[in-house]
Amino acid sequence: MLEVQDLNVYYGESHILRNVDLSVRPGQMVCLIGRNGVGKSTLLKTVVGLLRQRSGRVELLGRDLTGLPPHRRARGGIAYVPQGREIIPQLTVRENLMLGMEALPGGLGQHRHIDPVVFELFPVLEKFLARRGGDLSGGQQQQLAIARALLGKPKLLLLDEPTEGIQPSVVLDIERAVRRIIETTGISVLLVEQHLHFVRQADWYYAMQKGGVVASGPTAEL
Ligand code: ATP
Ligand code: MG
Repeated sequence: MLEVQDLNVYYGESHILRNVDLSVRPGQMVCLIGRNGVGKSTLLKTVVGLLRQRSGRVELLGRDLTGLPPHRRARGGIAYVPQGREIIPQLTVRENLMLGMEALPGGLGQHRHIDPVVFELFPVLEKFLARRGGDLSGGQQQQLAIARALLGKPKLLLLDEPTEGIQPSVVLDIERAVRRIIETTGISVLLVEQHLHFVRQADWYYAMQKGGVVASGPTAEL
């Protein structure tokens, strides 16, 4: 469903991604691993259209995405949860959840497909909907960000280190939520993750070094 071929990306004159090939099949969960600064976030940002490649191709469901801006890619089915938390403390939880979306007809109750992600969060969400976003814990903020990304019913979900800076017990919650959303919606997921246990939940991994893919295979190998 996602095909990345021979991708080269630069920041100014710095050559960041080098001849990257990667694919994600329908319903697959694929994990990018590698040390800090190897280009994992750059790859996700290029797929979502925030950065432009100098050469190579990014295709979603057979469609070449070159030249398509992020909002068009979003309409085409790509949702992206960036690294770091995107919560605006001055807004309420509900406003944060709806960020950038038109009012949802029928309210949240009509969007049960996000339940697997917000399932543990829902009791809190109901309670906190009118409160400001800064009140949520790091894990809750992350779940909120994932729930927000899922509201548009994407076909491909990009998650950049959803468990960064989150306490170990909550890492498991997020891991379970992502697995459940794949099982219930059949969505494909491309994620960047460092926790080995979480990485092993993925079907396939790509290991990066200095902007290139140096190994890939089933995560059972790790
Ligand atoms: P981390 O694990 O720390 O999140 P990463 O693998 O996601 O790292 P990237 O954020 O993709 O790495 O960065 C890849 C390289 O691009 C790094 O060398 C970084 O310094 C450089 N880089 C990132 N953002 C910019 C920018 N806005 N301008 C110039 N160089 C950048
Ligand atoms: Mg990163």
